[in-house]
Amino acid sequence: MSHPIAWVPAERARHASMDPVSQRGRRVYPEGQWVSTLCGLRVEACEGELAWLWWTCPDCDDRAREIVGAPPRPDVGQRS
Ligand SMILES: [Zn+2]
Repeated sequence: MSHPIAWVPAERARHASMDPVSQRGRRVYPEGQWVSTLCGLRVEACEGELAWLWWTCPDCDDRAREIVGAPPRPDVGQRS
């Protein structure tokens, strides 16, 4: 099932966004595109292998899961 959310690596974290993705067939924002994230930031998208090793923004993760109706990740039950 498709959903409107795409992940965008930016500013050393992986954020989620519902901005339209211009590249057909790829849920990836082109490098340098400014994107509004689910946690309320405006970030400039990055591309590249290392970007995918960045941590996942917890606010975006929560919002994205709410939007698609997914259960919370079991490994983030105890947050400090
Ligand atoms: Zn975020």
